Amino acid sequence: MLKYHVRDLMFYTEDEIWAIEKPARCEITFDDGITLETDTVNIMIGSWYLWQIASAWPEINVTSKLFIHDKVFTDKLFRDLLWDAIEATMGMNVPKEDVWFLAQDLYNKSYNAIVNRASRFISSLSYKNIYEVVKHPRIAEANANVQPNQESINGVYDVITDVFKNDKSMADNVVVATVSYGTVKMAQVHQSFGPRGPNTDIDSVIYSNPIMRGYSHGLATLDAFAMESRSAAKAQLFNKDPVADAEYFNRKMQLVCAIVRKIVPGDCGTRDYHTFELGNDATSKRLFESMVGLYQVMPDGKPREILKTDTHLIGTTVNFRSALCCHEAPKQGVCEVCYGITSYGIPYDTNPGHVSSTSINEPATQTIISTKHLDFINQTFAKFLPREMESHFVVSKGHPEHILLKSGTVTKRLIMTIAQNEATSLVDINYVSNPGATDVAKISGLSNVQFFYIDDDDHVIGKPVSVQVVRKNIQASLSPHLLSYLKLNSWKNEGNRYAFDLSSWRLEHPILVYQNKHENMVAAVSRIETFIRSCRAKLNEDMTPKAIGRHEPMLVKYRDVDLALRDAFHIICDKLKGIHLGHIATVLLASRALDPYIAGDWSLPGSKYEGYFCSHDDLIRHRSLSTAVLFERQFEIFDDPDSYLQTKRVSTIQDELLFIPPAAKE
Ligand SMILES: [Zn+2]
Repeated sequence: MLKYHVRDLMFYTEDEIWAIEKPARCEITFDDGITLETDTVNIMIGSWYLWQIASAWPEINVTSKLFIHDKVFTDKLFRDLLWDAIEATMGMNVPKEDVWFLAQDLYNKSYNAIVNRASRFISSLSYKNIYEVVKHPRIAEANANVQPNQESINGVYDVITDVFKNDKSMADNVVVATVSYGTVKMAQVHQSFGPRGPNTDIDSVIYSNPIMRGYSHGLATLDAFAMESRSAAKAQLFNKDPVADAEYFNRKMQLVCAIVRKIVPGDCGTRDYHTFELGNDATSKRLFESMVGLYQVMPDGKPREILKTDTHLIGTTVNFRSALCCHEAPKQGVCEVCYGITSYGIPYDTNPGHVSSTSINEPATQTIISTKHLDFINQTFAKFLPREMESHFVVSKGHPEHILLKSGTVTKRLIMTIAQNEATSLVDINYVSNPGATDVAKISGLSNVQFFYIDDDDHVIGKPVSVQVVRKNIQASLSPHLLSYLKLNSWKNEGNRYAFDLSSWRLEHPILVYQNKHENMVAAVSRIETFIRSCRAKLNEDMTPKAIGRHEPMLVKYRDVDLALRDAFHIICDKLKGIHLGHIATVLLASRALDPYIAGDWSLPGSKYEGYFCSHDDLIRHRSLSTAVLFERQFEIFDDPDSYLQTKRVSTIQDELLFIPPAAKE
């Protein structure tokens, strides 16, 4: 048997490594004293590349952990191992930027080696593999029995997932292998081997009939083709303006966030921290995952890194630090403890504000681009209501988009009012025989309703209760039942609202309905932008009828930093997965100013208890003008006399792009 020590192998050249006899049994001894019996193939596929960091800095130990063993070489496996190799350099006197540069090179080299040197082992896909999946008894049975509703279709998807993951007899099927190696996503497999499912039109309205065949069976009906053609139309639509808009959103964010200019080594010693209660639900678990790498504040006040394995924190209250707490902020820095362990991943002299904003925007743009593949619907309305609606409404059983008044509601002399500008076509119901037979969303789009009771003299009893009725970014509409009721019982005008007397309303009828609409990524990103930038354009939109902007959350409306951070997480991570909470906090920090409106101080506050959230347009207007020069509508800022009253401006990274000629000497 061949015998090696890893210290010898790691100094071989790439050609020499691939020239080793293969396949052949061998023994390798590692720096941790462990000797493995393995095949020489495991040396050249992946492993040798992992050792090259130690070959550049021989003081690094190469343990048996840095070996591919007999595992299948996948992107994820190699990235994980490469990270282990990088981690071995932490705490040693090795420049991290050089290590990363080398790691990047090794990643490419290992791939090129497999493509070029192992090409004769690369297999391709045949129709037989696809046929085998289609004919799999459990998948075929699930498809034969599927009903045209989301639950039933999800049931087929569950069967497919189970077969792909757990049926050992399928493990050699190339289609199954591509999924287990991560090349093909399970969601794509669902649509190929299960029903294509519900599809959306370009305006994101979900077609009521799902497509009941998948790509492997072929779309066989005209309506399926017509519905499916909308996916391509949508992809084309999204590839133009939305991508450009998302890219511009990136730029706008970077301009503002670049104010957080440096990572300051060590701990700033702040006593501020956030307090989050983590529940036991799926959202709290995701929140916990996004906190990994931040520092928890222990009861004795000492910081401790939150690890992936700290799942005991789920279901508890966690105190932790973020950039929003940092004492270094007034000097445009964040300390390593407040920024979290991700600060290690920021190269020397790199702007952390830019890194954080890009970390949020990059996945957003990427998701818009891949809309064609990913923008399918796998959820309809949740069966529960937002807390505020819960006190007045219930969800109809089996129709989560239908909302009823809560059972037991006394309807006698109960008045419900809606804004007139949210139901501009209400009067039209008088001219049709069956109101609601057409599109109810065209008659009304409500963001809130008010309830109150009146006494026998028509005087209002108590204060009207206002309830927001926007769900999943979709406005409520008056139900066909309610429209018929109003056609019969009519309504009153009260100021700028319509008032409906519900005295003879029957509780078993839905009172509000939601058009079955899917929030696409473009809408989601625009919602994120409105929130973070507190877009003034959106605020202006409020003045126009039918705008929902007034009720859209915006940072500028928050005083409580913890609440803002938590809501920011929900708004951003509702659609985008895997975004680090520390990056969100840094973006929020850049959106704050110490005392902007009275003292005109637009610098960053050094505590979460000081300062205010500001709209990004205001921040650009009042901080360094070099940012304004790079932004849009510069003339508005330079023509504005207010602009000249701002005598102290916060500097930013873009200042160095501007050449300001020295004052001429007299
Ligand atoms: Zn700090």
